[in-house]
Amino acid sequence: MRLILMGPPGAGKGTQARYVAARFGIPPISTGDIFRANVSSGTELGVEAKRFMDAGEYVPDELTNKMVRNRIDEPDAEPGFLLDGYPRTLAQVEELDGMIKFTGHSLDAVVVLRVNEEELVQRLLQRAKTEGRADDTEEVIRRRQEIYAEQTEPLIDVYRDRNLLIEVDGEGDVDEVTERIFHALEAVPQS
Ligand code: AMP
Repeated sequence: MRLILMGPPGAGKGTQARYVAARFGIPPISTGDIFRANVSSGTELGVEAKRFMDAGEYVPDELTNKMVRNRIDEPDAEPGFLLDGYPRTLAQVEELDGMIKFTGHSLDAVVVLRVNEEELVQRLLQRAKTEGRADDTEEVIRRRQEIYAEQTEPLIDVYRDRNLLIEVDGEGDVDEVTERIFHALEAVPQS
């Protein structure tokens, strides 16, 4: 199963990605988590990525694509994977197409979590208190949402045109949202 989980910052991608990946026995691949791990351990990639992340901007495609390519090449991703937070730009969509084609497989579905804007800001401000992420200040949250609208929302139409899009209501309890995603994915033939 090769899946993408999309949604604006605060939609609950990270949480849902772990449940969905576990259900299908595939690794969740979160570009945000990989970048944060690199920042914490002070790698060259982490130092480079941090300036963009702290400002709420996207890390350049070249760095991001290379990192995802390396991760997808690992043996645990051979049976499939769930991408959380990638692709986020049209250039990344193309790059991912190439990566998947190279493996001889295809993308099975793209799940988009829908949550209203006000609820998103509230969730992120709450997360700022509990997790203390450097990019969860109100100003950076707003910037991340702008960038999502400009650069990532257009991807939804791309995947809709390919008949891969599944829109899921991301509001309500975490368990309810998980059930909705599972239910929607039951109808997807696995490759
Ligand atoms: P996330 O945890 O998914 O919200 O990602 C946190 C930050 O990591 C984002 O605000 C970006 O700065 C960076 N990032 C994560 N995924 C990508 C991506 N696919 N392209 C560019 N930057 C990314």
